Amino acid sequence: MRGAPETMAVLRPKSGAEAVKLYGQQTKAVPLAGGTDFMVLWNLGLLNGRTILDLSGVRDWRKIAAARTGVLVGSLATHAEIGRHPTVRAEFPLLVSACATIGAAQIQNRGTLGGNIANASPAGDTFPSLLVYEAVVRTVSPRGKRKLPISEVFAGVKRTTLGPGELIEAVELPFLDKRPSRRLFRKVGTRLAQAISKTVAAGILRLGKGGVVEDFRFALGSMAPTAVRLTEAESAVVGFKLTPAVVDEACRRLERSVSPIDDIRSTREYRLEVSRNILRSFLEGNQ
Ligand SMILES: Cc1cc2nc3c(=O)[nH]c(=O)nc-3n(C[C@H](O)[C@H](O)[C@H](O)COP(=O)(O)OP(=O)(O)OC[C@H]3O[C@@H](n4cnc5c(N)ncnc54)[C@H](O)[C@@H]3O)c2cc1C
Repeated sequence: MRGAPETMAVLRPKSGAEAVKLYGQQTKAVPLAGGTDFMVLWNLGLLNGRTILDLSGVRDWRKIAAARTGVLVGSLATHAEIGRHPTVRAEFPLLVSACATIGAAQIQNRGTLGGNIANASPAGDTFPSLLVYEAVVRTVSPRGKRKLPISEVFAGVKRTTLGPGELIEAVELPFLDKRPSRRLFRKVGTRLAQAISKTVAAGILRLGKGGVVEDFRFALGSMAPTAVRLTEAESAVVGFKLTPAVVDEACRRLERSVSPIDDIRSTREYRLEVSRNILRSFLEGNQ
């Protein structure tokens, strides 16, 4: 029942294994990480009668560990912790930029990467960067562990492909083979802080011999029910020089991957025009 929040039953696991066991027994429980999305629902009374699975005691899921092939970010790592980690800063600057735009300092200090992903907002600001870096989400449930490419995690507005009793344990960020020649993160909102994106973009581009594009990855958030890679625009660019005709074609193809809507934050037309301009200036090297 909606209305004023009520006191709830709380489960407090101390390890990942215990969290999985408890969640497997009570799949209707609501996981609680930093609580920044959770508290909005709780304040509205929308979680009344639900048991809470408080993950804050699962210390292992808070770690960020650099290895030979990439970085493993625990699902409970906060946006602020991700932004401070030296290897993440050196190798995954787009994610660092994204984390720095989430809410403001208070939200960045509490909000976690796992919570951002599980919440699956179309406007989740980390998603375009995670798509560009081809992040892999590690999950765990009583049925075992899974590794899901980030592109397979989102099922629609606020919906994921996680099953009952399945928790996000960590996010793998594989190192890029070669350094990009250009990279971009751009969030367009009403204000510089505490703003939900009208559009949010991340991209990397690597030029090879003779100016031919060897790698190009570009993703947008707030432009469709889930964040998306612009695969059609990418294929117009990879293997070609960045001539005006190639840039025009990539910008034309942007619309094939997105379906923006009019809502209280913006209009479809504005979102399309701004996103096209961001893509164009990135490809033209003007960003
Ligand atoms: C004022 C304000 C400003 C905000 N600004 C932004 C912004 O600019 N950009 C943006 O992207 N977001 C923003 N958010 C949303 C939110 O802060 C982020 O999505 C944050 O990363 C959520 O993380 P959390 O740890 O607080 O999640 P929680 O609120 O604890 O949980 C969010 C959801 O994920 C589930 N969950 C949490 N952890 C797990 C897990 N390990 N496994 C499975 N399910 C899990 C919970 O059950 C819940 O459904 C804002 C929120 C507020 C209140």
